[in-house]
Order: sequence, then C-alpha cells, then structure tokens
Amino acid sequence: MDYYPVSIKNLIRSLARLPGIGQKTAERLAMYILQQSAEDAHQLARHIVELKKRMRLCERCFALSDDRLCRICSDPSRENGLVCVVEQPADLASIEKSGAFKGRYHVLGGVLSPMDGIGPDDIRISELIDRIERDAIREIILATGTNVEGESTAAYIAGILAPLPVTVSRIASGVPMGGDLKYVDQVTLKRAMESRHGI
Ligand code: ZN
Repeated sequence: MDYYPVSIKNLIRSLARLPGIGQKTAERLAMYILQQSAEDAHQLARHIVELKKRMRLCERCFALSDDRLCRICSDPSRENGLVCVVEQPADLASIEKSGAFKGRYHVLGGVLSPMDGIGPDDIRISELIDRIERDAIREIILATGTNVEGESTAAYIAGILAPLPVTVSRIASGVPMGGDLKYVDQVTLKRAMESRHGI
C-alpha cells in the first residue's frame, strides 16, 4: 500500500470497508475510478452524497424513500388493503424482485429478540396496528424470516392482530427454515407468497 499516493490509499481504504470488497478488489476499483473521466467520477461521488442527504423513510410504510411517501405507497395501481409485513427494506426489495406481490408493505425495522433486548416497542408494531383502520387494511401477510426471531415475531404479531377485523397469513412453505428473505431465490419467494396460509 505504501507505494500508492495518499489520495489513492484513502479511496482504497474506504472501498475495502464495503461488504464483499477485499483489498485487491478495492485497489482494482480505485484504479478504475482513477481512469474514469472527471465527470463520471464526480457523478459517483455525487450519488453517494445525495443518497445520504435525501434518503429517508416513507411516512406510511417505513420503506426507504426520496419523498414523504415511497414509490409503492404512491402507486395507485397497487392493491389497497393488502399489506406485506417485512423485517427490513432489503426484504421488501427481494419480494418486489419476485414480482409476486401487488399490495403494499410495512417495514418493521427489525425482529423481536429478547436476547438483544429488542421488544415489541422497538419495532414498528403499533404503527402497523394504527394503519389497519387508517389505511383500511383487510389482509396482512407476515413475511418475516423463518429463523427463530422471525417466527416468534410473526407469532407475536398474529396474536396481537387476532381480535382485529383483518385476515392474517404467513408466507412459509418453500422458504427454508432459518431462511433470510434476502438470500431466498425469486422463484421460491414467489411460490411462498402465492401459497401463504392462515395463522
Ligand atoms: Zn411507503
């Protein structure tokens, strides 16, 4: 590393901190950026700065958004009243890629995990309950992971929702036990969404 000028070394260090990028790849990327036109390099830098400046959470579903409401919440063609509950924005992206779901979402922002001190008040369960009446939700699909935390979170939410006038189902079949939705392939996810079952 010492043979690199400081400005390249700094960039390599930053890139190497990204997930899945080792030292060698970071060096290759830094060299690539160095060879790019000033305009392309500025655009890359600008996109990173804009991302941090503009990104916020959708006021309704808590997905990542540039605006007050995310693209899915502001899309009139999405089915109203049908809401898929996921742990994180990345899970929403996986389901969207599968193309199996045409309703709207609710991002919990985590799962119940007593070991880590994460209880019901730490994830967006009360916000989901508030939405049932406000957004006239008829059906909720619980699409938390199939690991212990995901299952217990789904069971907890199903229990809370039981007295309310809403149908609750769970995607499960096809998603491997211990599965993180991010890593489940799109075909499996589509099948799991289509063959959801009541709790
Ligand atoms: Zn939204």
